[in-house]
Amino acid sequence: MGPGVLEKLRRIGVDPGSISIILITHLHLDHVSDLLPFIKLKALSDRRLFRVFGPRGIGEMLDLLVSDRRLFGYLSDLGCRDIVEIHEVWDDVLELEPGIILRSKPVEHFNGVAYRIDLPSTSITYSGDTAPDPRLIELARGTSILIHECSFPADRLKGKHTSAEDLMRIASEVGPRILVLTHIYPEMEERLQEYLERFGKKLGMVVYAPRDFDTIEV
Ligand SMILES: [Zn+2]
Ligand SMILES: [Zn+2]
Repeated sequence: MGPGVLEKLRRIGVDPGSISIILITHLHLDHVSDLLPFIKLKALSDRRLFRVFGPRGIGEMLDLLVSDRRLFGYLSDLGCRDIVEIHEVWDDVLELEPGIILRSKPVEHFNGVAYRIDLPSTSITYSGDTAPDPRLIELARGTSILIHECSFPADRLKGKHTSAEDLMRIASEVGPRILVLTHIYPEMEERLQEYLERFGKKLGMVVYAPRDFDTIEV
Protein backbone atom coordinates (compact mmCIF):
# COMPACT_ATOMS: atom_id res chain seq x y z
CA MET A 1 0.00 0.00 0.00
CA GLY A 2 2.86 2.35 -0.79
CA PRO A 3 2.49 5.53 -2.85
CA GLY A 4 0.74 5.15 -6.18
CA VAL A 5 -1.01 1.84 -5.50
CA LEU A 6 -4.51 3.19 -6.08
CA GLU A 7 -3.52 4.67 -9.43
CA LYS A 8 -1.73 1.45 -10.44
CA LEU A 9 -4.80 -0.64 -9.57
CA ARG A 10 -6.86 1.64 -11.81
CA ARG A 11 -4.39 1.26 -14.66
CA ILE A 12 -4.49 -2.55 -14.54
CA GLY A 13 -8.28 -2.54 -14.19
CA VAL A 14 -8.52 -3.97 -10.66
CA ASP A 15 -11.63 -2.78 -8.84
CA PRO A 16 -10.73 -1.77 -5.25
CA GLY A 17 -14.10 -3.29 -4.33
CA SER A 18 -12.67 -6.73 -5.15
CA ILE A 19 -9.93 -6.37 -2.52
CA SER A 20 -10.93 -7.89 0.80
CA ILE A 21 -7.54 -8.52 2.45
CA ILE A 22 -4.53 -6.22 2.80
CA LEU A 23 -1.21 -7.27 4.34
CA ILE A 24 1.00 -4.55 5.79
CA THR A 25 4.58 -5.46 6.72
CA HIS A 26 5.52 -2.36 8.73
CA LEU A 27 4.52 1.21 9.37
CA HIS A 28 6.92 3.09 7.09
CA LEU A 29 5.43 5.56 4.64
CA ASP A 30 6.60 3.74 1.52
CA HIS A 31 4.51 0.76 2.71
CA VAL A 32 1.35 2.42 4.08
CA SER A 33 0.84 5.80 2.43
CA ASP A 34 -2.06 4.70 0.19
CA LEU A 35 -3.87 2.83 2.94
CA LEU A 36 -5.80 5.85 4.15
CA PRO A 37 -6.94 6.94 0.66
CA PHE A 38 -7.91 3.30 0.00
CA ILE A 39 -10.07 3.20 3.14
CA LYS A 40 -11.72 6.47 2.18
CA LEU A 41 -12.38 5.23 -1.36
CA LYS A 42 -14.04 2.08 0.01
CA ALA A 43 -16.08 4.14 2.48
CA LEU A 44 -17.37 6.29 -0.38
CA SER A 45 -18.02 3.39 -2.77
CA ASP A 46 -18.96 -0.21 -1.99
CA ARG A 47 -18.53 0.00 1.83
CA ARG A 48 -17.72 -3.72 1.91
CA LEU A 49 -15.92 -4.81 5.07
CA PHE A 50 -12.26 -5.69 4.50
CA ARG A 51 -9.46 -7.05 6.64
CA VAL A 52 -6.11 -5.36 7.26
CA PHE A 53 -3.34 -7.51 8.71
CA GLY A 54 -0.29 -5.73 10.06
CA PRO A 55 2.31 -5.67 12.84
CA ARG A 56 1.74 -4.53 16.40
CA GLY A 57 0.77 -0.87 16.40
CA ILE A 58 -1.26 -0.89 13.19
CA GLY A 59 -4.52 -0.77 15.16
CA GLU A 60 -3.40 2.27 17.10
CA MET A 61 -2.14 3.97 13.94
CA LEU A 62 -5.40 3.47 12.06
CA ASP A 63 -7.53 4.46 15.04
CA LEU A 64 -5.55 7.68 15.33
CA LEU A 65 -5.68 8.52 11.63
CA VAL A 66 -9.27 7.51 10.96
CA SER A 67 -10.99 8.34 14.24
CA ASP A 68 -9.05 11.09 16.04
CA ARG A 69 -10.79 14.36 15.34
CA ARG A 70 -7.58 16.39 15.63
CA LEU A 71 -6.26 14.67 12.50
CA PHE A 72 -8.46 13.47 9.63
CA GLY A 73 -11.63 13.80 11.69
CA TYR A 74 -13.91 13.93 8.66
CA LEU A 75 -13.00 10.31 7.95
CA SER A 76 -14.95 9.23 11.01
CA ASP A 77 -17.99 11.09 9.65
CA LEU A 78 -17.65 8.94 6.53
CA GLY A 79 -17.75 5.79 8.68
CA CYS A 80 -14.24 4.76 7.60
CA ARG A 81 -13.45 2.89 10.79
CA ASP A 82 -16.60 0.70 10.49
CA ILE A 83 -15.49 -0.99 7.26
CA VAL A 84 -12.00 -2.03 8.43
CA GLU A 85 -11.34 -5.14 10.49
CA ILE A 86 -7.83 -4.85 11.92
CA HIS A 87 -5.76 -7.93 12.79
CA GLU A 88 -2.43 -7.41 14.51
CA VAL A 89 -0.01 -10.23 13.75
CA TRP A 90 3.46 -11.14 14.94
CA ASP A 91 4.58 -14.77 15.06
CA ASP A 92 1.30 -16.27 13.86
CA VAL A 93 -0.34 -18.90 11.67
CA LEU A 94 -3.95 -18.45 10.57
CA GLU A 95 -6.36 -19.61 7.91
CA LEU A 96 -7.30 -16.61 5.76
CA GLU A 97 -9.88 -18.54 3.77
CA PRO A 98 -10.43 -22.29 3.42
CA GLY A 99 -7.16 -23.73 2.08
CA ILE A 100 -5.25 -20.43 2.29
CA ILE A 101 -2.81 -20.25 5.19
CA LEU A 102 -1.12 -17.01 6.26
CA ARG A 103 2.03 -17.12 8.36
CA SER A 104 3.82 -14.11 9.80
CA LYS A 105 7.20 -13.73 11.50
CA PRO A 106 8.82 -10.67 13.04
CA VAL A 107 11.88 -9.46 11.13
CA GLU A 108 14.75 -7.09 11.82
CA HIS A 109 13.19 -3.84 10.61
CA PHE A 110 11.39 -1.39 12.91
CA ASN A 111 8.68 -3.65 14.31
CA GLY A 112 8.17 -5.27 10.92
CA VAL A 113 6.83 -8.66 9.92
CA ALA A 114 7.31 -10.90 6.87
CA TYR A 115 4.48 -12.99 5.43
CA ARG A 116 4.10 -16.38 3.83
CA ILE A 117 0.91 -17.41 2.06
CA ASP A 118 0.37 -21.09 1.30
CA LEU A 119 -2.22 -21.82 -1.38
CA PRO A 120 -3.19 -25.30 -2.59
CA SER A 121 -1.02 -24.92 -5.69
CA THR A 122 1.85 -22.67 -4.62
CA SER A 123 3.34 -20.60 -1.82
CA ILE A 124 4.62 -17.05 -1.71
CA THR A 125 6.89 -15.48 0.90
CA TYR A 126 7.35 -11.72 1.09
CA SER A 127 10.14 -10.33 3.25
CA GLY A 128 8.86 -6.77 3.56
CA ASP A 129 11.85 -4.64 4.57
CA THR A 130 14.44 -6.42 6.67
CA ALA A 131 18.09 -6.85 7.44
CA PRO A 132 19.19 -10.47 6.86
CA ASP A 133 17.19 -12.45 9.41
CA PRO A 134 17.23 -16.19 10.21
CA ARG A 135 13.51 -15.94 11.10
CA LEU A 136 12.75 -14.98 7.51
CA ILE A 137 14.79 -17.95 6.25
CA GLU A 138 12.87 -20.25 8.58
CA LEU A 139 9.55 -18.82 7.39
CA ALA A 140 10.47 -19.06 3.73
CA ARG A 141 12.12 -22.48 3.59
CA GLY A 142 10.49 -24.58 0.85
CA THR A 143 8.43 -21.69 -0.54
CA SER A 144 7.83 -21.62 -4.32
CA ILE A 145 8.16 -17.87 -4.75
CA LEU A 146 10.35 -15.64 -2.62
CA ILE A 147 9.79 -11.90 -2.96
CA HIS A 148 12.68 -10.34 -1.07
CA GLU A 149 13.93 -6.83 -0.64
CA CYS A 150 17.27 -6.13 -2.31
CA SER A 151 17.90 -2.53 -1.37
CA PHE A 152 21.62 -1.97 -1.97
CA PRO A 153 24.87 -3.50 -3.20
CA ALA A 154 26.90 -4.60 -0.13
CA ASP A 155 29.40 -1.73 -0.47
CA ARG A 156 26.56 0.85 -0.30
CA LEU A 157 24.38 -0.83 2.35
CA LYS A 158 22.47 1.55 4.69
CA GLY A 159 19.95 0.98 7.46
CA LYS A 160 18.15 -2.24 8.33
CA HIS A 161 18.10 -3.63 4.80
CA THR A 162 19.47 -6.55 2.82
CA SER A 163 22.29 -6.28 0.30
CA ALA A 164 22.32 -8.15 -3.01
CA GLU A 165 25.25 -10.23 -1.73
CA ASP A 166 23.31 -11.22 1.41
CA LEU A 167 20.26 -12.03 -0.68
CA MET A 168 22.27 -14.47 -2.80
CA ARG A 169 23.15 -16.36 0.38
CA ILE A 170 19.57 -16.19 1.72
CA ALA A 171 18.06 -17.35 -1.58
CA SER A 172 20.44 -20.30 -1.84
CA GLU A 173 19.43 -21.36 1.69
CA VAL A 174 15.69 -20.98 1.02
CA GLY A 175 15.80 -22.51 -2.47
CA PRO A 176 12.63 -21.06 -4.05
CA ARG A 177 11.68 -21.83 -7.64
CA ILE A 178 11.31 -18.11 -8.40
CA LEU A 179 13.13 -15.24 -6.70
CA VAL A 180 11.72 -11.73 -7.10
CA LEU A 181 13.93 -8.79 -6.15
CA THR A 182 12.09 -5.77 -4.85
CA HIS A 183 12.60 -2.52 -2.87
CA ILE A 184 15.50 -1.54 -5.13
CA TYR A 185 17.14 1.78 -4.23
CA PRO A 186 18.84 3.91 -6.91
CA GLU A 187 22.29 2.69 -5.80
CA MET A 188 21.12 -0.85 -6.56
CA GLU A 189 19.26 0.04 -9.71
CA GLU A 190 22.46 1.45 -11.25
CA ARG A 191 24.07 -1.97 -11.02
CA LEU A 192 20.98 -4.14 -11.42
CA GLN A 193 21.99 -5.75 -14.71
CA GLU A 194 25.39 -6.77 -13.37
CA TYR A 195 23.78 -8.26 -10.25
CA LEU A 196 21.07 -10.10 -12.19
CA GLU A 197 23.83 -11.85 -14.14
CA ARG A 198 25.59 -12.77 -10.89
CA PHE A 199 22.33 -14.07 -9.39
CA GLY A 200 21.72 -16.11 -12.54
CA LYS A 201 25.21 -17.69 -12.43
CA LYS A 202 25.17 -18.44 -8.72
CA LEU A 203 21.57 -19.58 -8.15
CA GLY A 204 19.71 -22.33 -9.99
CA MET A 205 16.40 -20.50 -9.98
CA VAL A 206 14.45 -17.99 -12.02
CA VAL A 207 15.31 -14.45 -10.86
CA TYR A 208 13.24 -11.38 -11.68
CA ALA A 209 13.60 -7.71 -10.83
CA PRO A 210 10.20 -6.61 -12.13
CA ARG A 211 9.17 -3.11 -13.10
CA ASP A 212 5.70 -1.76 -12.36
CA PHE A 213 2.99 -3.56 -14.39
CA ASP A 214 5.20 -6.56 -15.28
CA THR A 215 3.46 -9.93 -15.07
CA ILE A 216 5.25 -13.02 -13.79
CA GLU A 217 3.92 -16.43 -14.77
CA VAL A 218 4.11 -18.83 -11.84
ZN1 LIG B 1 10.98 0.25 5.98
ZN1 LIG C 1 10.58 0.31 2.56
